[in-house]
Parts: sequence; C-alpha cells; structure tokens
Amino acid sequence: MVAKLNAAIKEEVRLLRARNILPGLAIVRVGEREGDIAYQRGATKRCSSLGVEVKSLVLPTTVTQEEVLHVVDSLNEDASIHGVLLLRPLPKHIDDEVIRNRLLPAKDVDGITDASIAAVFTGSINVGFPPCTPQACVKILDHYGVDLKGKRVVVVGRSLVVGRPVAMMLLGKNATVTVCHSGTKNMSALCREADVLVVAIGKARMIDQDYFSPGQMVIDVGINEDENGVLCGDVNFTDAEKIVDAVTPVPGGVGSVTTTLLAEHVTQAAKCIGGRGA
Ligand code: NAP
Repeated sequence: MVAKLNAAIKEEVRLLRARNILPGLAIVRVGEREGDIAYQRGATKRCSSLGVEVKSLVLPTTVTQEEVLHVVDSLNEDASIHGVLLLRPLPKHIDDEVIRNRLLPAKDVDGITDASIAAVFTGSINVGFPPCTPQACVKILDHYGVDLKGKRVVVVGRSLVVGRPVAMMLLGKNATVTVCHSGTKNMSALCREADVLVVAIGKARMIDQDYFSPGQMVIDVGINEDENGVLCGDVNFTDAEKIVDAVTPVPGGVGSVTTTLLAEHVTQAAKCIGGRGA
C-alpha cells in the first residue's frame, strides 16, 4: 500500500518541480519527547525520499506562547512552506487551541485547526486535510479489506490528535465504536470484545494478552521508547501475535503510512498554494 502511494506522490512531486514548485513541509517540535523525535525523524526521512523539502524547528519547553505564535506566523508567511506539522501535545503553559488555530487552513496538512477537526466530526470531505495518523489507521483497515459496517471497534485513547478523530472516522464507516480512556473501568474486558482494537495511549507495551481475543485486528498507534531505549508501540506485539488475527508493528506500521499521507497532503497543498516561480 505504502509503495503504491509513494510512487504516486513521487510523480506529483516531479510534476510540481518541473513547474519550479518545491513542496515544502515545516516540522515544529517543542521539547525532546522520544515519540515526537521518532515521528519527526520518520516524517523527515519519508518526505525527503519523496522530494518534499523539510525544515525542522525545535523549540525548548521553556518557550513562551508569544514565541510559538511568532514561529507559526513566520511559517504562514513563508512562501517556500506549503504545510506545517506541529507536534503535540504542547507544554501545559501554552494554549494549544490558540496556537493551532493561528495556522493558515491552507497549510494545515495534519488537520489540527478547528475547521479541519470539525470536518472530521461532520464528515465533510471538502474542508482542509484530515489528520494523518487517524487517516492512516482507516487506510490500513481499508487496505486489508476490513468491512467496518456493524463491527465492534474499541479505541483506547481520546486525544484530539488520534483517539477522538479516529473514533469519528470509524463511526463514519458504520462501525460501533467505544472510546476508552484513563477513567475507563474493566478496559481489558471491553477490548477483548472488540473486532478491531485501535490503541493510542503512549504507554510502552501496556496492552498485553489480557486485552486480546482471537480473530481481532489490532492497530497500534503508539510510539514509545522502552526502558532499554528500544522503540515500541503501546501493544505488546509478542502477546498480540499469539492471539489475534493481525497486528500492526512498531516501527513500520501506522507511522509509516502516516508519514506517507503527510507527504501526500503537503504535495496537494503545494499544488493549491503554488510556490516560488509558480
Ligand atoms: P496523549 O495526548 O497523551 O493521549 C493519550 C490518551 O491515552 C489519553 O486520552 C489518555 O486518557 C489515554 N490513556 C493514557 N493512559 C491510559 C491508560 N492507562 N488506560 C487508558 N487510557 C489511557 O497521546 P496521543 O497524542 O494521542 O498519542 C498516543 C500515542 O500515539 C503516543 O505514543 C504517540 O507517540 C503516538 N502517536 C503516533 C503517531 C503515528 O503516526 N504513529 C502520531 C501521533 C501520536 P485521558 O484522556 O483520560 O488522559
């Protein structure tokens, strides 16, 4: 699936470059969270390999809200940047809502502005871009021919970045969706009842054999480092493999599709916005 999408993006980029438009992505990271660093590394590698230019901006966790707004404003004005990826959650002293809504809708390639998020909830397809990671989860299920109609889906995690939008997208596919969070009781029993389990909690290998049952499809969104510095998901892959029908690996699963979709969104944004010499 990724190879086919990558080939199509490469061709789009070739056509844009022939018009002297160099698709450009800016990645803004605040702090040194390992999941963010891994995501940034993956996105940079994927975009660069497809011909999308990447500019990375790393800010300290002591950065002020005004300083982050200034960075967003300058990227909004920068004609060489067609899309902005803002890694979140931001530190608590920064108002996430203010920052993400400062981004120009045309450059919102990861669907973080209220208008783009609202479109996910209303099911509108003509507003902005969908957030890449939830879209990647749905694409993977589509690719494997999972008909979600009437299926019981459990999403573990309710962040605006992954849990809530993926739940809405799967609801839009007529699945029956339950969303779990840190206050959920009997979570393992709920998870065992699912046909499809989507996990996005940021807890290294927490979802183990207690949460699985035979026949399930498990989508692991987590990107963590374990106590030995090894990159891993939220799912205990070894346990899952023994019980479920299919489980996405980390690295190489959701993250890999996400970065490809990000490159695709930047390319589409470049086509709309144009660029230097366009
Ligand atoms: P987040 O904003 O920290 O949200 C985590 C969610 O998980 C929250 O809703 C939280 O519940 C819930 N949670 C935490 N511990 C839990 C527990 N023990 N039981 C049940 N629910 C629990 O994280 P995020 O941004 O959604 O990211 C989640 C993971 O996905 C991270 O590992 C991140 O690195 C990864 N990620 C991967 C990609 C990719 O492309 N592959 C993209 C983005 C993020 P409460 O709401 O009750 O606190």
